Amino acid sequence: MDWINKHLQIVSINTFIDPIFPVENAIITHAHADHAKPGHNNVLATKHTIEIMKIRYGENCANNFQELSFNSPLNINGVKVTFFPAGHILGSAQVLLEYQKDKINFTGDFKITKDDTCESFRPVTCDTLVTEATFGLPIFQHPDPEVEINKLIDSLKTFSNRPHLIGVYALGKAQRLIKLLRNKGYDETIFIHGALEKICNYYIQSGISLGNLSKALIKGEKKRF
Ligand SMILES: [Zn+2]
Repeated sequence: MDWINKHLQIVSINTFIDPIFPVENAIITHAHADHAKPGHNNVLATKHTIEIMKIRYGENCANNFQELSFNSPLNINGVKVTFFPAGHILGSAQVLLEYQKDKINFTGDFKITKDDTCESFRPVTCDTLVTEATFGLPIFQHPDPEVEINKLIDSLKTFSNRPHLIGVYALGKAQRLIKLLRNKGYDETIFIHGALEKICNYYIQSGISLGNLSKALIKGEKKRF
């Protein structure tokens, strides 16, 4: 106990990472709804995360926003806060907290697979790792995206007279799938659900080309195909 007391230091920076309820100071790792909630007083996040939060929740979804770029340390009450790319969606960040010689890294959601729609994951050296491991068990073996996208391309060619409907998350997964198709040379118009439109447009504005997209249904229109 003495050893612990000697080495354990509690430093308060009155800041939460991805809090699920409104707080005074929040660091937000990325804009998915289970990590980014509206109603905080101060939000510290990457530029893309802040902009996507505003698209999804409105301009005033927090009272104050502070942008922090990757690899640019910020000092909060003696604790150094640095963001590193998490490779999950556009703007997603790992949060490294350093106090004296101790380093704690909070990964947020992350992936190490290549994804042309976001900044690539960067390994971070730390003493303590805090991670969300939804798919951490060995039973989860995700197939190679290149192989899966080739199956889709083959099906589009073989059954060119049939629509192919694909369910995706509106933020991140949709844009990744579209980009994978474009990278394979698929240049036909892709029809998207209206819920994807704003986020797809934001990705395009941010320099991620997604090719020709069109809304699958237009208000008042009963049948498209
Ligand atoms: Zn996420």
